[in-house]
Amino acid sequence: MTVTNETHDIGLKSWVETANGSETDFPIQNLPFGVFRRHGDDEPFRGGVAIGDQILDMTACAQAGVFDGLAAASAAAASESSLNSFMALGPKHWSALRLAISRLLRTGSPDQAVGEAALVPLYEVEFAVPGAIANFTDFYTSLDHANNGGRLSRRDPPLFPNFKHLPVAYHGRASSISIGGSPCRRPRGQIVLPDAKGPSFEPVRMLDYEMEIGAYVGVGNPKGYPIPLAEADQRLFGLCLLNDWSARDIQGWESQPLGPFLAKSFMTSVSPWIVTMEALAPFRVAAADRGDDAPELLAHLNEASDRASGGLDVTVEVYLSSARMREAGTPPVRRSQGYFRKNYWTVFQMLAHHASNGCNMQTGDLFGSGTVSGPVRDEMGCLMEISERGAAPFELPGGESRTFLEDGDEVIFRGKCERKNFATIGFGECRGRVSPAHPALNS
Ligand code: MN
Repeated sequence: MTVTNETHDIGLKSWVETANGSETDFPIQNLPFGVFRRHGDDEPFRGGVAIGDQILDMTACAQAGVFDGLAAASAAAASESSLNSFMALGPKHWSALRLAISRLLRTGSPDQAVGEAALVPLYEVEFAVPGAIANFTDFYTSLDHANNGGRLSRRDPPLFPNFKHLPVAYHGRASSISIGGSPCRRPRGQIVLPDAKGPSFEPVRMLDYEMEIGAYVGVGNPKGYPIPLAEADQRLFGLCLLNDWSARDIQGWESQPLGPFLAKSFMTSVSPWIVTMEALAPFRVAAADRGDDAPELLAHLNEASDRASGGLDVTVEVYLSSARMREAGTPPVRRSQGYFRKNYWTVFQMLAHHASNGCNMQTGDLFGSGTVSGPVRDEMGCLMEISERGAAPFELPGGESRTFLEDGDEVIFRGKCERKNFATIGFGECRGRVSPAHPALNS
């Protein structure tokens, strides 16, 4: 497994002063990767690393020749308009570049002047989806999400019989993956209104978010050669925040018997920053307790190292704001807080299971963890659970109430990792504001 090293030392400080405060998501111990350019410029998107309120521009670093060896080759790859070339290089290169960046940004670095010349302020930039994502898969790995959903569907028992045997998933849509901050256009679709005899085609009324963790594959596998679970953590590049926008009214009607299709494919949002698996090393914890009734794991999903440290202690939060709240100057309100360490399956089991039939995973492939949920309302990661499929509205500041998302609502995800004797690191934000449906084609 990825172990901690000098880059995780809580004593490290950066000459970028804003990286040293307790408020930042991006201290020198984090160093997440993204793809950016200055607002309103035609300059190409390129790779960068967040540090405090700045981005260290990988193109500028590569051109200045500030790194050598594996780090230099890695910085050149990380300069491109997607991180795929860099992600394909593998953990030795990822680690070499991380160490070189950490040393460059530390207080007392002899190359501070070169580093300063390679900084771009965060407020000056816009982001792109950081990988060229060929394939997107969405899992369903939170036991509480599965139980809550099963109860809402009045299944008895609420859990499907396969849940504790394998990480359930469906193949999603890669083309509509969008960078956080992009508006989410309310889709139209076939829905069956209460008391209607059949479906109508109209703007959906049950638009929802799903708070998920996304994982980017760095090093794939040849077709026909599964990934052993013990190797999975050397192949994952890093994690992001992921909003699996969902139209529950389309989903309920269309999903029988083959699962989600147009209810999910209109858009999926990812956060701009990928927090690397190496940065997350201090926050590895034991895999979640599977419970006394759990069946024995089959061999491809069973590995002592995964049981011991396959869990990831990431706290995720969902904030909401409405158009009326923003007009009144009311800040976004926290709707829920979830704990990824409680998810029933680890990200490594997800990857190993995905490849277990010989399916070739590719560099830049993305998978979602499924909604990160808990047993109580304030830990639930989607509105379907929180509002009990619309039966239980909740209040927003200023007197509005909600069951599902209204036009103008903004959904903001945040993620954070904390552990004693280590620096707290964050994921930045994944935002999306709902915009009204397009006019109907036939009106
Ligand atoms: Mn999902």
